[in-house]
Amino acid sequence: MALNFLEYAAPGVADLRPYQPGKPLAELERELGIRDAIKLASNENPLGPSPLALAAIRDALPDLALYPEGGAPELRARLAQMHDLDPRQFIFGNGSDQVIEMAVRAFAGPGTEVIVSQYAFAAYAIAAQASGATVRTAPARNYGHDLDAMTALLSERTRLVFIANPNNPTGTQLSGAALETFIDSVPAHALVVLDEAYLELMDDDNYPDGRQWLGRFSNLLVTRTFSKAYGLAGLRCGYGMGHPDLIAVLERVRQPFNINSLAQVAAHAALLDTRHLEATRVNNRQERQVLAEGLDKFGLTILPPAGNFTAFAVPGGGQSVYVALLQRGVIVRPLSPYGMPDHLRVSVGLPVENQRFLKMLGEVL
Ligand SMILES: *Cc1c(COP(=O)(O)O)cnc(C)c1O
Repeated sequence: MALNFLEYAAPGVADLRPYQPGKPLAELERELGIRDAIKLASNENPLGPSPLALAAIRDALPDLALYPEGGAPELRARLAQMHDLDPRQFIFGNGSDQVIEMAVRAFAGPGTEVIVSQYAFAAYAIAAQASGATVRTAPARNYGHDLDAMTALLSERTRLVFIANPNNPTGTQLSGAALETFIDSVPAHALVVLDEAYLELMDDDNYPDGRQWLGRFSNLLVTRTFSKAYGLAGLRCGYGMGHPDLIAVLERVRQPFNINSLAQVAAHAALLDTRHLEATRVNNRQERQVLAEGLDKFGLTILPPAGNFTAFAVPGGGQSVYVALLQRGVIVRPLSPYGMPDHLRVSVGLPVENQRFLKMLGEVL
């Protein structure tokens, strides 16, 4: 007899809907029996990983029988120098997703509340709900975080407030002044998690780097990742920066070997490869513009392009356009899991990929 496992699942888990990632390239190629599909669905680096990272991985292969050093000392020292922080101000995760999870594990749980914005990056609400915490969702303003609406949800039970700047998938941004005022207003019993997954790909001079507030607010955790600009999404490495006492609490729930040895050496090497990062930025800046103009020519409404992606609306046709593009070997991201069924999100690819996407989209429309 089948057991109803959901009945025994932990509070919060029964109602959880799993994160829906972008469709893997290999999966679509298997389904269609083709080899030249393109994926513009997960905001990955179209230039691939840094050659220095690949060389570091090759050098580290003979040591794979050994457990990694849990604290990632070399990577930590490099980042501490780069950000002018104490090495004790860093926590590493198997992707910044895991840093988010550790923050939830350490501070949320049944009886607590976690504040997110409507249309915010889905990982926050999923982790919070899985912990048994109550997720309080502030309605968005123009698809972005409405900080006043988030402030209105603060209570004695609030333990975490998640902010993505820019937000994925909507590309919306908050100004430094607005963010600073907001963080200042959050009481000490609530931690603000400021997710800056796209910082290295932001070209706007006014884009605020959350690092600047770490000395002032001890209830602030700033997260970064090697998955986007650094082109190492497959290795899973991200980090959080915060007050040493905050980091010490997060360390209590970190799995001892969560950052594998290849990820550690590759991330370290990627930080040194300023040429690859610059090439990534240049392609991204130019091609993001190409995509935005191309979408505009089709008369589509686009949300603000930010980082390495832009979302756009196909009123009434989000899902059908997604499927039609798949049939033409192009993977984009449908935003129906975000409650935005008219919208699709496209990542900035190489020039040839973006041209192919625009051509196929033209056919489909
Ligand atoms: C891609 C992304 C992340 C992180 O991903 P990891 O691969 O887990 O580091 C985090 N936040 C946002 C907003 C993202 O878009």
